[in-house]
Amino acid sequence: MSRNNDLFDAAFKHIPGGVNSPVRAFGSVGGTPPFISRGHGAYVWDADDKRYIDYVGSWGPLILGHAHPEVIAAVEKAARNGLSFGAPTAAEVELADLLCSLLPALDQVRLVSSGTEATMSAIRLARGFTGRDKLIKFEGCYHGHADSLLVKAGSGLLTFGNPSSAGVPAAVAADTIVLPYNDVAALEACFAENVGKIAAIIVEPVAGNMNLVPATPAFVTAMRELTQAHDAVLIYDEVMTGFRVDLTCAQGLHRVKPDLVTLGKVVGGGMPLAAFGGRADMMAKLAPLGPVYQAGTLSGNPVAVAAGLATLKLISAPGFFTALTAKTRKLVDGFNAAASAANVPFSAQNVGGMFGLYFSASTPNSFAEVMAGDRVRFNAFFHTMLEHGVYLAPSAYEAGFVSAAHTDVDIDDTIAIAGRAFKQFSA
Ligand code: PMP
Repeated sequence: MSRNNDLFDAAFKHIPGGVNSPVRAFGSVGGTPPFISRGHGAYVWDADDKRYIDYVGSWGPLILGHAHPEVIAAVEKAARNGLSFGAPTAAEVELADLLCSLLPALDQVRLVSSGTEATMSAIRLARGFTGRDKLIKFEGCYHGHADSLLVKAGSGLLTFGNPSSAGVPAAVAADTIVLPYNDVAALEACFAENVGKIAAIIVEPVAGNMNLVPATPAFVTAMRELTQAHDAVLIYDEVMTGFRVDLTCAQGLHRVKPDLVTLGKVVGGGMPLAAFGGRADMMAKLAPLGPVYQAGTLSGNPVAVAAGLATLKLISAPGFFTALTAKTRKLVDGFNAAASAANVPFSAQNVGGMFGLYFSASTPNSFAEVMAGDRVRFNAFFHTMLEHGVYLAPSAYEAGFVSAAHTDVDIDDTIAIAGRAFKQFSA
């Protein structure tokens, strides 16, 4: 008798695939997803009351762990004053000021409700600003599910083997140029062939939707220099990396000032909130000031803003990211040591509080290298970890996340379980 199984069966009746977002269905790894009943700190419990050490963290937002008391208190206080007004509030001004003070690239910022909205709006703005249509994205990067971005995208589209999506008009996809990640020569050639046509590059500065692949320094420099030379817009999609890899985000680690930035996940502290922002001359083109339309009934929702503000204040504490990065490093070092003790070709790495696990001897640098990893082994490893109470992302193509709530004991326990899980592959 498993309540999880019963719920999954019941879910199929009125929810397509039983889930409200595809990767949750365990399509890649097989089996029944745990239905989560509650979360506290580093743990979640499923419908059968089994506890897991959680390295998904709602796919990134929960950098403080589940139900952090100060975040919950802020949410409760805001909720008591009303859930939504569709009118300006003081708290959204505070959040905008805070974001612009944390990131030098942000002169102005607009709040939205999901990462998809943020990237979709940033692209419309880049096109409206430049008067050009063509967009460069990179193979394996996922930027949400707007039509023009569902071309060779990562995340669930990799898991399900769809290079793209049905329902995306060919004409829309035609304006999206897909290039290999970390390939400077391909980027240079593309700009040379499309002079005056490219509106923007959109990039995950540390790709987290094809496992974890950091951009190389040469690639970072090339993207910034080529967009500048060609009057194109550089969009850093930091929905996942923003306030996750560092308080200065990936752009701070890269020492790059993008023209536009998208944020999500951590910025809403677990509530539906995201943002896009950047150069004042570009943001001035947005309605009601300019001709680029963008809007939202629930944009800047007061409860979500309260969760975001509480989270950002807590992660701004001195030493927060040093400790989070060290903890995540301890986890990946432990995975690597356990795999090598079991003689299993494996590698793991982290950037701040984000990590990647690969069943290949070296860390990948490109989408092709990610795809060459041993997916069958990943799936077996995933299920052994799950069975022993460690909840990893249910796909070989997703990054994992450590929160401030994970203790050294949690990390040690995880590594011990991984050690046993690797042994199943020992010759
Ligand atoms: N951009 C990136 C880099 C993401 O990782 C995601 C979601 N994982 C999105 C955009 C889309 O965000 P959302 O799911 O909130 O629409």
